[in-house]
Amino acid sequence: MHISQRTLHIPTSPIRKLAPIANRVEKTKKIYHLNIGQPDIPTPESFFKGVASYHPKVVAYGKSQGDAKLLEGIRKYYAEWGMDYAIDDIFVTNGGSEALSFAIMTTCDPGDNVLMFEPFYANYKSFTGAYNVEIQGVPTSPDTGYHLPDQETVESYITDRTRAMLITNPGNPTGVIYTREEMDMLARIALKYDMTLIADEVYREFVYDGEYTSFGMLHELDDNLVLIDSVSKRYSACGARSGCIITKNRDLQQELLKCCQARLSCPNIEQLGAAALYSTPKSYWEEVKKEYTKRRDTIKACLAAMPGVISSDPKGAFYVMVKMPIDDTEKFAKWLLEDFDIDGETVMITPGNGFYASDVNRGQDEARLAYVLNTHDLEKAMHILAEGLKVYPGRK
Ligand SMILES: *Cc1c(COP(=O)(O)O)cnc(C)c1O
Repeated sequence: MHISQRTLHIPTSPIRKLAPIANRVEKTKKIYHLNIGQPDIPTPESFFKGVASYHPKVVAYGKSQGDAKLLEGIRKYYAEWGMDYAIDDIFVTNGGSEALSFAIMTTCDPGDNVLMFEPFYANYKSFTGAYNVEIQGVPTSPDTGYHLPDQETVESYITDRTRAMLITNPGNPTGVIYTREEMDMLARIALKYDMTLIADEVYREFVYDGEYTSFGMLHELDDNLVLIDSVSKRYSACGARSGCIITKNRDLQQELLKCCQARLSCPNIEQLGAAALYSTPKSYWEEVKKEYTKRRDTIKACLAAMPGVISSDPKGAFYVMVKMPIDDTEKFAKWLLEDFDIDGETVMITPGNGFYASDVNRGQDEARLAYVLNTHDLEKAMHILAEGLKVYPGRK
C-alpha cells in the first residue's frame, strides 16, 4: 500500500517523541512534566452547564459556520477587547488546529511558503506539510530574547512564493510578547508584499507584564489579517476542541466557508459548552493570571540562578525557551528521565530542535519549559533540573 510522501515528511511532534520513555520510567519514578502545555487550572463550571443543556430529539448536523450562540459569544468577547468583528467574519473550527489548517489551505498553494520566526510552535510543520507548503524559517536568537530581526533582514527571507507570515503572540515556545514596533513592522511587510498575516493569538490573556495589543487592533491590516483563536488555553478546555478563524477579507471568507462546509459541522455539544465559556466573568481571569504570574516569577528566578543558562524573558503564554551549556538537549532530556533522579523524582523537558525548520542543528542546546505546575512542584522540578545540569556528562 502506498503512503504519501506528504505525511511521511511530517516530523513526529518533539513534544511527544520522548513519551514512550516517560511512560516506562513513570512506573518507578515521579516525573514533573515541564514538557507539555496542558494547563492544570480547573475548567469553569459554566462549560458543564452548557454541555448538560443539550438534549434535542435528533442529534442533527449543526451549521457549518458554527453554532449561532457560540458565534455571538465570540463576537461579544472581541467587542469587549475593542475589536469590532461581524458574525460573518467568524468561523467556528475544531480547535485552533483546524483554524490553522484552514488558514494554510486557503492562502497557499503547493510549493508556496510561509514565513515563521524560529523557534515556532512545532505543530505548524504538520499544518503546512499536509498541503505541501514550505516553511521559510527566520531565525531569532536566545541572545536577543528571541525578538525579531529588523525589517531588512525579515524581508531578505521573502521569495516570490511567500504568501503568508505566521506568528504566535504571546509566543509558544518562547513566551515572548512582541513589541508594538515589531508588530507595526510585520504589518508594513504584509502590506508591502500583499501577504496574509496569520496571527495565532490563543494565549491572548496570558500576559504578565503590561498591556497586550492584538494584530486585530491594527486596522490598516484588516484585509490581510487572519486571526487564529481557541478556548483550549484561555479556559483550560483543551479537550473541548473548539476554536475559530476570523478575517474581514471577503474573498477569503467565501473560501473558509467552503472549508467549513466540507467537514459539515463542529460537534454540537462542545459548541454549547464553549458558548457558555465565553460568558465567563472577568474575575476568573484575575485569579488565573495571579497564579500564572507567580509561576512565571518562580521559573524566572530559578533559571537566573543557574550558571550558563540563557533564557528568553518570559512575559506571556506559559512557556520559556532556555539555552543550556550542554551538548544536546534531546540526550539531556533522555538522561534526565532514565539516568537521573533526586529521591525517586525527575523532570521532563522538551528538546528545542523540533521548534526550528531552517537548519537541523539549530536549537540543539535549547529546550522549552512549560510552567503549568503549581509553584511548590515547580520549585522542586527546577531544583532537579539545576542539580541534573551540574552532573550531566554532556555538560560543556
Ligand atoms: C495549543 C495551541 C494551539 C491550538 O490548540 P487547539 O487545542 O487546537 O485549539 C494553536 N497554537 C498554539 C501556539 C498553541 O500552543
